[in-house]
Amino acid sequence: MKKKIAIIGAGPSGLAQLRAFASAAPKAEIPEIVCFEKQRNWGGLWNYTWRTGLDEFGEPVHGSMYRYLWSNGPKEGLEFADYTFEEHFGKQIASYPPRAVLFDYIEGRVKKAGVRPWIRFSSVVRYVTWSPETRRFTVLVQDLPNDRSYSEEFDHVIVASGHFSTPNVPEFPGFDTFNGRILHAHDFRDAREFVGQDILIVGTSYSAEDIGSQCWKYGCKSVTVSHRTQAMGFKWPANWKEVPLLTKVEGNVATFTDGSTATVNAIILCTGYKHHFPFMPDDLRLRTANRLATADLYKGVAYVHNPALFYLGMQDQWYTFNMFDAQAWWVRDVILGRIKLPASKNDLIADVEKRVAAEDAGEDSYDAIRYQGNYIKELIAETDYPSFDVDGADEAFFQWKKHKIKDIMAFRDNSYRSVMTGTMAPKHHTPWKDALDDTMQSYLRN
Ligand code: FAD
Ligand code: NAP
Repeated sequence: MKKKIAIIGAGPSGLAQLRAFASAAPKAEIPEIVCFEKQRNWGGLWNYTWRTGLDEFGEPVHGSMYRYLWSNGPKEGLEFADYTFEEHFGKQIASYPPRAVLFDYIEGRVKKAGVRPWIRFSSVVRYVTWSPETRRFTVLVQDLPNDRSYSEEFDHVIVASGHFSTPNVPEFPGFDTFNGRILHAHDFRDAREFVGQDILIVGTSYSAEDIGSQCWKYGCKSVTVSHRTQAMGFKWPANWKEVPLLTKVEGNVATFTDGSTATVNAIILCTGYKHHFPFMPDDLRLRTANRLATADLYKGVAYVHNPALFYLGMQDQWYTFNMFDAQAWWVRDVILGRIKLPASKNDLIADVEKRVAAEDAGEDSYDAIRYQGNYIKELIAETDYPSFDVDGADEAFFQWKKHKIKDIMAFRDNSYRSVMTGTMAPKHHTPWKDALDDTMQSYLRN
């Protein structure tokens, strides 16, 4: 009897898992695979939607991406080792592609692999249970368009449902009487909504930096960024300032811990996301902070309390697509019996503790990048995923960080060398700050 595998989610992580299974040889060993995807299409966050709140079926909207989103890291750090940008586009392209270009790239590989028939779209996983007697999982699914629920049994479940979709939404005094719009980054879609407005952003990470930059690029009047821990400290444009934490809002006036104030039209909470698995019971649910060494995952993927269950892509991310690949190939080989897990739970837990200590020993973001690069090296050394120059990809990230410090509104104008093909990316035809048309057609023209 073939093993039966459930994959939850057809975003980049779930698609990496499908691609990994499709590439297994001999084909006769490929198990029976069902991937459940609640959206109508694949691509996860890269499958852009204008919707916010609830979708057409009353389900929470998964998408957190917005119009005009360009990659915030160089594509040379995320390139698939088995499907390069040059293979997909027929030429090397510039280093910071907009969302539509990256979606096309992700889709190109899985179209070529022919994995779409393994996916049941518009199918949301409602609940997963484990039977110690049969040693199988039961997955309860709702087929949304047909409003029909059913259960199916699986030998393994691989959770690839992402962790940047359920917003972390703090409240500050006065929010209920603020005379303007308050939204979380998860619901931000179009920077043009804020043209001519004074905006306040709470948070200092990638969403804060990028949503502020979008609004600046498309013509907001000013950006004020409020930090809880530390200011971002980039050389911001003249109409951009950083202030300490928000304490209260009265009318349109925001007050900060140093007593300073700002009059604003809108407040955008860029306060991060929660790992949220409402479809998992207590004994199978991953509980972790957003960090590089996730809690309870052996080798970052196998759930220590039940290693028939895997979670993909749950780490905080410097690396993305090729890290998901490294994980997916490794999980595939465990399922195919080619990699053996330690038999004792203590050994599984010891591995997690070692990873947590190694991450904690790092001093700065350069160490964090190296840490995640080394993690990728470790996994791909154990499978047949094509090996690549991970140190070279680390170097692209180091350059990226320096370019941001040099000019935060121009870092996307830089180019890097592909560690897969050795080709230097061309310079983009228009500086990012002037490139208001971010369609694929515009990006790919010479
Ligand atoms: P997701 O992309 O979130 O996909 C998860 C999938 O699971 C979704 O399709 C969802 O519908 C499905 N799903 C969830 N729950 C269920 C359920 N119960 N039943 C069935 N299906 C379910 N990374 C980069 O490399 N470069 C970038 O420029 C970049 N920009 C980003 C911008 C934003 C605003 C955000 C939030 C993230 C960004 N990322 C970026 C990081 C991003 O996390 C990864 O690129 C990638 O999308 C993660 O893939 P994933 O498959 O793990 O999760
Ligand atoms: P994040 O990295 O988790 O950062 C959360 C931020 O919110 C931190 O600055 C944190 O501050 C702050 N915060 C949390 N709770 C707070 C509170 N109660 N009060 C004040 N501040 C609070 O989340 P993110 O920035 O949304 O990034 C998520 C992912 O999206 C990342 O992987 C990122 O790369 C991706 N992203 C990519 C792009 C792009 O490619 N263009 C754009 C946006 C996002 P502390 O430091 O004090 O904890």
